[in-house]
Amino acid sequence: MSGVVIIGAGHAGSQLAVSLRAEGYAGAVTLIDASDALPYHKPPLSKTFLKDPTALPQPLRAAAAYEAAGVLRRRGIVTAIDTAARVVTVDGEALGYDDLILATGARNRMLPELQGAENVHSLRDLADAERLRAALAGADRVTVIGGGFIGLESAAALAGMGKSVTVLEAAPRVLARVAAPETSARVQAVLAGLGVILRTGFMAQGYRRDGARVTAVTGAEGEIPCDLILVGIGAAADTALARASGIACNQGILTDGHLRTSAPHVWAIGDVAETPHWQADAALRVESVQNATDQARHLARTLSGAETDPFRSVPWFWSDIGPLKLQIAGLSVKADRRVVRDDGARLAVFHLAGNRLVSLESLNSPADHMIARQLLEAGRTPPEAVMQDSPAALKAWLQG
Ligand SMILES: Cc1cc2nc3c(=O)[nH]c(=O)nc-3n(C[C@H](O)[C@H](O)[C@H](O)COP(=O)(O)OP(=O)(O)OC[C@H]3O[C@@H](n4cnc5c(N)ncnc54)[C@H](O)[C@@H]3O)c2cc1C
Repeated sequence: MSGVVIIGAGHAGSQLAVSLRAEGYAGAVTLIDASDALPYHKPPLSKTFLKDPTALPQPLRAAAAYEAAGVLRRRGIVTAIDTAARVVTVDGEALGYDDLILATGARNRMLPELQGAENVHSLRDLADAERLRAALAGADRVTVIGGGFIGLESAAALAGMGKSVTVLEAAPRVLARVAAPETSARVQAVLAGLGVILRTGFMAQGYRRDGARVTAVTGAEGEIPCDLILVGIGAAADTALARASGIACNQGILTDGHLRTSAPHVWAIGDVAETPHWQADAALRVESVQNATDQARHLARTLSGAETDPFRSVPWFWSDIGPLKLQIAGLSVKADRRVVRDDGARLAVFHLAGNRLVSLESLNSPADHMIARQLLEAGRTPPEAVMQDSPAALKAWLQG
């Protein structure tokens, strides 16, 4: 049968499977995943799903959409790739391919000292979220280790459920790797208003245990008792299968601009792919729904013969932290200064490299975000006075 075989039915793999057919690809399409759940949206898992004991996973698309596109969904774990023979091993069985797509995503990092403890959780997939949600019923004091997106979204959700929540962050501010100091300050203030205790600059020195449970985290200033710990310290690309198959990897699976790996007829997309980025002049791994779906759509066009250009899109991302909608357009890696507009309710942080706009972070200002995406797409930078004025002024300048 051969055709296209996709490993991983997350946001990237699922999109690719249906887009291939939409682009006119005529061969067989097989979508393999370790889970037999209908592919689902991951973002709600750290937002609404925890709060509602009756909430169900939200499918990316109905089962009928895969059937209509002639996509064969198969539950299984791929354990080996023979890139010379163009064959994968799935649950011990050989499956040939014409083109193979690695969309294996990322796995959460875990603190080795906490590995296996009964009341320690992390959040990556539906099984994690269901386990966490069940455990929350018997937990009042929750300690979140890590002040990144998933940790903070969960902290806000848990505070909203009446839990006593403490966030421990080693850096001097939350979101330090991904957001400007002004954004971190606003997020911290809003979380504090929700009753979340934030301990920044906190280095865990040890853990108190009672059998298989961790009952407190110890730092320089004493102990923080807890009933449950949620570890949110980031994720690493799931490259194990690629590495074992001799495919070149760095932090992720290395690809060229067309999403092609070092092995012939093998491609990588989504969280796992480390791809040259037009805004960074370097290869990067981008963890976002937009990146996963845009790369999938691009690869579907490439494999169907409709696309010959390298992948290029304006990256964007969102995070819902309690009442805050944080949105980021563009990459700020090359920025050297910023322009800040803060009207109390909405915040916009424009990142510039020299005189060029490269990214915008906004809080509760979707209009700014949408305009920034258009500005970045067009490669245009408004005057500073316009950035500092209002979303309406930005829009008028863009359309003027
Ligand atoms: C809790 C949470 C909240 C998030 N919130 C946001 C948000 O608000 N906004 C945003 O933009 N992004 C968010 N993200 C990130 C976003 O979900 C990811 O960027 C996106 O899921 C990446 O899609 P992917 O297809 O590359 O990988 P994944 O969705 O991780 O899918 C990879 C799949 O590959 C399968 N797999 C791996 N190895 C094998 C194998 N050997 N055999 C078979 N199957 C295999 C896995 O089982 C998995 O289903 C969030 C992520 C999480 C975990």
